[in-house]
Amino acid sequence: MNNQSTVARAEISAEASAIVSANPAPPVHMAHTVHATHADVWAALADLADPEIPVISLRELGILRAVREAADGSTEVVITPTYSGCPAMGQIEDDVRAALHAAGIPARVVTQLAPAWTTDWMTPAAREKLRAYGIAPPQCGSDAHTHSPSVIKFSRQALARDVVPCPQCGSTHTTETSPFGSTACKALYRCLDCLEPFDYFKPI
Ligand SMILES: [Zn+2]
Repeated sequence: MNNQSTVARAEISAEASAIVSANPAPPVHMAHTVHATHADVWAALADLADPEIPVISLRELGILRAVREAADGSTEVVITPTYSGCPAMGQIEDDVRAALHAAGIPARVVTQLAPAWTTDWMTPAAREKLRAYGIAPPQCGSDAHTHSPSVIKFSRQALARDVVPCPQCGSTHTTETSPFGSTACKALYRCLDCLEPFDYFKPI
């Protein structure tokens, strides 16, 4: 009798443990393991615009550099400032954090200074949006970088005063009226045909 009940209990407990192990682990850690894909992160940040040029997204501008996985498995969003000391950078970093938070995406914002941002990182779409917005896009294209160093040395100076087409009428009959426009990264120009003043996004 004693033996029988011991066997019975053993069977019950074996059955019980089998049921327990057959059950999946309780989903208590699900909230932490739900990983936002990099596409989710890009999507959450897609509408973020440059504070100074609201028609251009940070991605088109080349400020939003990368979404990557850090060594500890967390997600990092890499941003690169345009001009060093650009006053908009603090705002941009805050905007990125706020957008990630709003989307419920746990990610760190990392500012990366190298390689340094250049106007070549601007997408063609961004250049066209700049022009449509009334700001002449940077003239110094990628071909300037493929020249030999000695050519760059001399042409850089020339390019700074190169022909900047008017974003309003397209005339190349323009003149620089001030090396600094509404922000330090722009120069003030004036069209000698339609007489409109305009900002020129200086190439760097
Ligand atoms: Zn014009």
